[in-house]
Amino acid sequence: MGKTESALHATPAATTGSKAEYWMPFTANRDFKADPKMVVRAEGMYYWSESGQRIIDASSGLFCVNAGHARPEIADAVHRQLQELDFVPPFMRGHPKSFALAERVAQLTPGDLKRIFFVNSGSEAVDSAMKIALAYHQARGQSGRTMFVSRERAYHGVNFGGVALSGIVNNRRKFGPTLHVAHMRHTHIKENYFARGQGEHGADLADDLTRFVNLYGAENIAACFVEPIAGSTGCLVPPRGYLARLREICDTHGMLLVFDEVITGFGRTGAPFGAQSLGVTPDIMTMAKAITNAAQPMGAVAISERIHDTVMGAAQDGAIEFFHGYTYSGHPAACAAGLATLDIYRNEGLFERAHELAPYFQQAMFSLRGAPRNRRTVSRASS
Ligand code: PLP
Repeated sequence: MGKTESALHATPAATTGSKAEYWMPFTANRDFKADPKMVVRAEGMYYWSESGQRIIDASSGLFCVNAGHARPEIADAVHRQLQELDFVPPFMRGHPKSFALAERVAQLTPGDLKRIFFVNSGSEAVDSAMKIALAYHQARGQSGRTMFVSRERAYHGVNFGGVALSGIVNNRRKFGPTLHVAHMRHTHIKENYFARGQGEHGADLADDLTRFVNLYGAENIAACFVEPIAGSTGCLVPPRGYLARLREICDTHGMLLVFDEVITGFGRTGAPFGAQSLGVTPDIMTMAKAITNAAQPMGAVAISERIHDTVMGAAQDGAIEFFHGYTYSGHPAACAAGLATLDIYRNEGLFERAHELAPYFQQAMFSLRGAPRNRRTVSRASS
């Protein structure tokens, strides 16, 4: 694709107007505004800059454009939806596509994680999952379980629950005391630095969870949150046996195991979710990125039937069972985008394709071992 075509799509207004008003997220605003790097178009695996330069989008947006940019099937579905039914309040009202999308997502989730709660982002999914964990324990008469366990180097979004779970200091240090969360040690240990896939060392780091049980009492702990594969802190694959050990400790002590799959969902690990790739099923799972191929903001929480039914069963007939939800939960346009996206993933076998490409990609990554690094390229963990 050459300059001529991209010039047709350039939007001069975006490049010449004031940059003062927009406060950009997770951005060195002053640096950016001094030398703005504007992207004006995307298609397939490419972006185009305002000067017409074609750029490979090697990270699929923010790990969320799994089927490639500007898929017409998704754009058409959203367009049709906005003309037919643009919005309906999600509280005490419904529309067919939110039910249809929940059914389709539930076909992808493992075990009995077949109840789906829609939100608008990964951060909302995390905070919603925390509230669901608390509601579950309350419903079964264990309201003392209010604290959480997560991990150093964890990233669980930017809302207050997620910040409390977070194990990345820059995401926490300006925001004061938060909820009561104990952090296990992370699994980025020297012995596994160059492991291909899951490292053989460090499954015993999961025993930190037992230490917290001994220190705080299991009767006070609601849930343990982990990213099955951490992403924002560098790509940390769990040591072999580590997640299974967390599963075992949670089961022994009545704590919920929550996988934050916001970054690992929808084929990124060669299966629908990291849980399936790694062979461990949590009680609750968060997801967001790629559910709509990033064409509309959306996230979701998948909940085990047991947890869902316990919360339902504790409420009186006719009562709202769970006092939580967002104005845009299950927004019609997002649901339409989600359904069109899941069709693409299925019809094009993209999860299977990711699985097939993994060894080739791993080999390519390992071929870079020893190559010079650009130390200015930093993750949220170290910035
Ligand atoms: N949880 C995990 C594991 C993530 O990687 C992210 C985003 O990178 C989030 C939560 C937050 O998602 P969002 O940025 O959509 O709020």
